[in-house]
Amino acid sequence: MEGCIFCRIAAKEVQSKIAYEDEEVVAFHDINPQAPVHVLIVPRKHIPTLNDAGEEDRALLGKMMLVAQKLAKELGVADSGYRLVLNTNRGAGQSIFHIHLHLLGGRLFHWPPG
Ligand code: AMP
Ligand code: ZN
Repeated sequence: MEGCIFCRIAAKEVQSKIAYEDEEVVAFHDINPQAPVHVLIVPRKHIPTLNDAGEEDRALLGKMMLVAQKLAKELGVADSGYRLVLNTNRGAGQSIFHIHLHLLGGRLFHWPPG
């Protein structure tokens, strides 16, 4: 979608530190990391929020989880522990309206989250 920063990153119109990409998904390091490992897993398809995903996105959403798992292993946090976060709408902290799965690791996380 025009003007969407994550669509532009996926299209390489905006530079990012890419950790993984294939025909459906791009993963890149967060510009403002909240943990030693902080990667965003983003579908190339522009879906504004999880509320906008449908049955047709089932495989894509599953793929995002498996890419997160693969990156957690590659980045060395699979055994120590990692957290996946998908903020939906402003009350949950979503600031970019193109869905993205946060992969956070490399430090201790508390529960419940803030
Ligand atoms: P959220 O608040 O869940 O919508 O997450 C948006 C995330 O995108 C934040 O963690 C930002 O630091 C990150 N972010 C924003 N712009 C960029 C960018 N150009 N490259 C990488 N990460 C970004
Ligand atoms: Zn987009």
